[in-house]
Amino acid sequence: FQDEKISVPDYTETELITDAFNKMLGRVQSLDTSRQEFVSNVSHELKTPLTSMKVLADSLVGQENVPVELYQEFMQDIAAEIDRESKIITDLLTLVKLNKKASNMNIEQVNINELLDLILKRLRPIAAKRNIELILEGFRPVDAEIDETKLSLAISNLVENAIKYNKDEGWVRVSLNADHKYFYVTVTDSGRGIPEESIDHIFERFYRVDKSHSTEIEGTGLGLAITRSAIMMHHGAIRVKSQVGEGTTFSVRIPLTFID
Ligand code: ADP
Repeated sequence: FQDEKISVPDYTETELITDAFNKMLGRVQSLDTSRQEFVSNVSHELKTPLTSMKVLADSLVGQENVPVELYQEFMQDIAAEIDRESKIITDLLTLVKLNKKASNMNIEQVNINELLDLILKRLRPIAAKRNIELILEGFRPVDAEIDETKLSLAISNLVENAIKYNKDEGWVRVSLNADHKYFYVTVTDSGRGIPEESIDHIFERFYRVDKSHSTEIEGTGLGLAITRSAIMMHHGAIRVKSQVGEGTTFSVRIPLTFID
């Protein structure tokens, strides 16, 4: 090796500056593209309920002697579309707020067992409507430094999905574990599962596995994007494993101590 010379490219200062500038430009451009994509997705999603409302309203306007039942039915459909529009806007505002700087984190020492207990208590009536059992496992007390509102939102979304995409008489198991550095929450369900080709997309904004189900099971496709953002703000991680027809497990890992 002694005879070998290592050649170091002789960059001039201008070349280095140009290189750095080009890299930065590339980053700004890709940011701009994703922003444009976001705006275009949002516009599309907001327009869908509006289009339905317009069609429904137009078919009543100018009609004489519309039977009361039909009139009521159309009005109910319009009200449902307004609810949908309003849910999209609420979820979008939540997501935008979450994506603001980590400085808006309201960190407190929280008992995670109690937090999970509260989430399940709140969701039990919804699960009971379809005879879905909610089980909480994890008897060791776990205290951690978290933003209670944000983490609550993240876990609630997972449990809500586990109920929504489950079968009647199914079950949802939420478990809590911890080691010296992290706590772990897993949400497992006996639901329909997620196809392999969709797994990489479910955290994307507005992504729904089966768009044709969108009228059957309500949702905005923003829940998991919100969950992931909230977990990222805690410097945590989320993973998913699923088997179609068997069920899904979401695993969340959060540091016990908040790192600023
Ligand atoms: P949505 O409002 O549609 O529920 P999410 O962002 O929460 O939006 O989830 C994205 C998509 O991922 C859902 O539309 C659904 O197809 C799929 N999904 C999420 N959680 C589950 C689950 N536990 N079981 C099966 N599919 C799920």
